Amino acid sequence: MEAMALRCAGCGANLEVDSDVDSLTCGYCKTPQEVVRRGGAIALKKVGDAIARVQRGTDKTAAELAIPRLERELAEREATRQRQLNEPARPPARRRLSNAVIWMAIGVPVLLFVMVGMSAEGHVTGFFIHAVWALWWTCIFGTILGYLFLRFVRSRDRTKAKHLRDDEINAEFEQETRKLRQQLARAREIVSEH
Ligand SMILES: [Zn+2]
Repeated sequence: MEAMALRCAGCGANLEVDSDVDSLTCGYCKTPQEVVRRGGAIALKKVGDAIARVQRGTDKTAAELAIPRLERELAEREATRQRQLNEPARPPARRRLSNAVIWMAIGVPVLLFVMVGMSAEGHVTGFFIHAVWALWWTCIFGTILGYLFLRFVRSRDRTKAKHLRDDEINAEFEQETRKLRQQLARAREIVSEH
């Protein structure tokens, strides 16, 4: 049996290897390696390299196959998010009645006071005419102002509700697609590495 002097592929130590040996583990650095005979040249090669090469090839194929699927899944989830964002947001039920009562309790006397002041102008005669005049305009202005105020409050409620709802939708999207986006980034990385 013939012994060959080969260089360890791991640490570079000189190793005495019998000619019939196909694989060995370096006694110094414990690197598993195989004896490669190619065109008369004999050398040691780390076993891990070959496995890693096969692994990389397999990974690349898998990544190339996975990318379109992951992109499709992400696009579908994105479409769902857009649909959710376009749906009208419902403001939460509020204590509308109590608010209205408070505003009427303040607004109606103020308006009535202004109207009485505008109509009377210090005249005592025709008091009932002035009172009816004042009440009449108070009702008219009260209705208009109340309507405008209600519209303003409702639109503000809707805007606020939409912001809250959109934040929830976006957070949910981020959370649900995090893994998907990570997988996609990794697959693209693997494909571009080779
Ligand atoms: Zn070694």
